[in-house]
Amino acid sequence: MGLEQAIPVDGYMTTQVSRVINWARRSSVWPMPFATACCGIELMATASSRYDLARFGAEVFRFSPRQADLMIVAGRVTTKMMPVLQRIYLQMTEPKWVISMGACASTGGLFDTYAVVQGVDQFMPVDVYVPGCPPRPEMLIDAVMAIQKIIDEDNIPYDGDGKRKPLGIDLTIPTPTVDVTISAT
Ligand code: SF4
Repeated sequence: MGLEQAIPVDGYMTTQVSRVINWARRSSVWPMPFATACCGIELMATASSRYDLARFGAEVFRFSPRQADLMIVAGRVTTKMMPVLQRIYLQMTEPKWVISMGACASTGGLFDTYAVVQGVDQFMPVDVYVPGCPPRPEMLIDAVMAIQKIIDEDNIPYDGDGKRKPLGIDLTIPTPTVDVTISAT
């Protein structure tokens, strides 16, 4: 946000300022909804009164990339649409985050065809993968919370060139094993 440069650098002050900045950032993650299919309905449900994404400060959906720092790809993306998605991503503010919501965004889902991108992470860095077809709103909230945790801990990973590295968090829930042993009577 430029505040780091505006305030004189000294150990104590810098630490406290970065904590305040991170608190502000994690409390105002503004999504850019790129909803192209049915997953978009779950995305809308997440922002509605029942799930109330506002509790996490992330309900301010912006349709201008310059006012958003969280890209949520909800639904399948065609090869024709991918350049548009990339351009919107590039126009978003730093530090920015990407959630790939649902099987279609992450892998192409059941659309195993040349016209559909088989995973948006081939073209842009994805921070959190939300599994499911469609994922439930609680899972999307989990993804937002995972990003907030990283911001809170001041754990934003950068590469050698100062570019942010994708987190690559997979929210896949381990399948519980069920004991189906039938005892002979
Ligand atoms: S993952 Fe399922 S619900 Fe989501 S866009 Fe694909 S088909 Fe629709």
